[in-house]
Amino acid sequence: MAFEGLADRLQNTIQKIRGKGKVNEADVKEMMREVRLALLEADVNFKVVKEFVKKVSERAVGQEVMQSLTPGQQVIKVVKEELTTLMGGEQSKIAVSNRPPTVIMMVGLQGAGKTTTTGKLANLIRKKYNRNPLLVAADIYRPAAIKQLETLGKQLSMPVFSLGDQVSPVEIAKQAIQKAKDDHHDYVLIDTAGRLHVDEALMGELKDIKELANPDEIFLVVDAMTGQDAVNVASSFNEQLGLTGVVLTKLDGDTRGGAALSIRSVTNTPIKFIGLGEKMDAIEPFHPERMASRILGMGDVLTLIEKAQANVDEAKAKELEQKMRTASFTFDDFLDQLGQVRNMGPLDELLKMMPGANKIKGLNNLQIDEKQISHVEAIIQSMTKEEKTHPEIINAGRRKRIAKGSGTSVPEVNRLLKQFEDMKKMMKQMSGMQGKAKKKGGFK
Ligand code: GDP
Repeated sequence: MAFEGLADRLQNTIQKIRGKGKVNEADVKEMMREVRLALLEADVNFKVVKEFVKKVSERAVGQEVMQSLTPGQQVIKVVKEELTTLMGGEQSKIAVSNRPPTVIMMVGLQGAGKTTTTGKLANLIRKKYNRNPLLVAADIYRPAAIKQLETLGKQLSMPVFSLGDQVSPVEIAKQAIQKAKDDHHDYVLIDTAGRLHVDEALMGELKDIKELANPDEIFLVVDAMTGQDAVNVASSFNEQLGLTGVVLTKLDGDTRGGAALSIRSVTNTPIKFIGLGEKMDAIEPFHPERMASRILGMGDVLTLIEKAQANVDEAKAKELEQKMRTASFTFDDFLDQLGQVRNMGPLDELLKMMPGANKIKGLNNLQIDEKQISHVEAIIQSMTKEEKTHPEIINAGRRKRIAKGSGTSVPEVNRLLKQFEDMKKMMKQMSGMQGKAKKKGGFK
């Protein structure tokens, strides 16, 4: 996950000051020296670091901290607030034109993830806002870019407008917008031409498209892994085109995070979305406050809850609760649960969103073995219907068959059966306790 080094260092630093009953200027100075180093090491622009350290230091030795009863905590609060401001304060939204279609122009250098992000964003707009976007293939220079967008369109069951690579991007944009009007698309996402470097020809062409399409948003897609380069690219695109937002991709990699922390303050353009993988749903709105929370080890409970809400079916959850209460939970239910949790994303990433998770020994370098989970799924899928509902009938012979059918081993099957039995016992105990408490009028 991105920011790992930065998060570790910042958390160690603030840990030292957290419990202090008294904080003096020397403590703040000491802490800020470490914060400064941590930020520089994470490849944050040096001017940004200087400004940040100055702001936090001023506030940390000011009244709000020194006169509080918990100065250690207050300093951390200041760090978090300033980190949030640095990344852009309030979360910014996508424009909606009152004269549809809303036009979004996607720009960026080759390889940044522009085409992929165009698909992801259209998918998000359709899913979250219930809109009907049209994808436009105007990247006529990168070989295969048009084909790639068409493939994404197919995958998403979303129309893609293309005129091949012999027509100018300006003409493509023009006809695409007309097509969107004719077909009642309320969003148009133009995947414009990328280049290997920022150059005049590219900017000239993008300016022409901008003039013609009069876009409501111009999103620059930059690769977080490129660090300071991403910041420089953002600066030049912004000077030439006037960006309305940045999409920072590949934050699922182990980027040090400098770009995320510098872009807003160097270019004065907000990061609006972050890319977290190659799949079409690996995109999230960027919430500076949540990101600051994550970096400082305070967790990101809100994102976790949103993920759960998007992936867990409420009716099913109710039914499950009932089953747990009556201890009539089967292996089918178990499989269902496993599927819902997996839909939320990789388990180790989810765990990291929990406050304090990074402080639990062992969790830090925890590699949740996804393979093991697939084994559990395979074992359950190899059971017969009857076995899933009445696991007590699974004798030695059946265990062997299940192990063979699932490509696992008998000890693995045994382990799962034992775990399942323990879980059911626990459910029974819990519902027993609830029953008793109810009689006493304890639980509601
Ligand atoms: P373009 O030249 O800017 O249009 O770049 P592409 O959309 O073709 O993306 C370049 C490569 O980056 C592809 O292999 C994408 O799958 C990959 N990519 C794009 N966004 C992300 C992301 O957020 N995370 C990861 N890991 N890979 C990404």
